Amino acid sequence: MDVATNLRHIKQNIEQASKKSNRNPEEITIIAVTKYVTIERTEEAIEAGISNLGENRLDGFLEKHEYIQDKASWHFIGTLQSRKVKEVVGKVDAIHSLDRFSLAKEINKRAAEPVDCFVQVNVSGEDSKHGVSPNDTLSFIKELEAFENVRVVGLMTMAPHIKDEHRLRRIFKQLASLRDDIKAKKLPYAPCDYLSMGMSNDYQLAVEEGATHIRIGSNLVGS
Ligand SMILES: *Cc1c(COP(=O)(O)O)cnc(C)c1O
Repeated sequence: MDVATNLRHIKQNIEQASKKSNRNPEEITIIAVTKYVTIERTEEAIEAGISNLGENRLDGFLEKHEYIQDKASWHFIGTLQSRKVKEVVGKVDAIHSLDRFSLAKEINKRAAEPVDCFVQVNVSGEDSKHGVSPNDTLSFIKELEAFENVRVVGLMTMAPHIKDEHRLRRIFKQLASLRDDIKAKKLPYAPCDYLSMGMSNDYQLAVEEGATHIRIGSNLVGS
């Protein structure tokens, strides 16, 4: 299916989910995750109106970024090794996978200006998932105060690949409530306005539960 058709369909679903939850669909950013697809397909997405792209691996990111440059905003959504940080800062608009102090330290050191970061939280508790545990999230964020080039704009999570709607909702609600707690602290370096949650499998639920950034690969550009 062409990207434009997929995008139309996804936007309709977002609109429905927004209506159900009394939200404004305009406050939801669709990030096209292009990790499975070619540069041509990525360009097709931009022509279809996509302005935010997500990559989870350094190589894929650098390769696409070289062609696309600032025709899109870039989101780094995958595990980031500290020694690779210098290759992404200055090129990415946001890092969605801040999950440890050493990574924050490196971002702070390499960046020339504040980098928008989402703290990745392992809400589901699966061993395979990266992220700070929900109980440690606030203390982790408090430790970042000294890093003037790290700005915590929100929280991110990856839900397990399951169909159980009830369990998915619980995960999204938990992240939203954690975000509310942190936002209420009014930490100047951690406005924490955003929630990066929801993928092809579960983005409608994520929108109903407050997602501001959804990361869609297979259903939008293909797998
Ligand atoms: C691959 C990936 C996605 C998109 O997954 P789909 O199920 O294809 O939509 C979203 N977020 C992260 C972190 C990913 O690695």
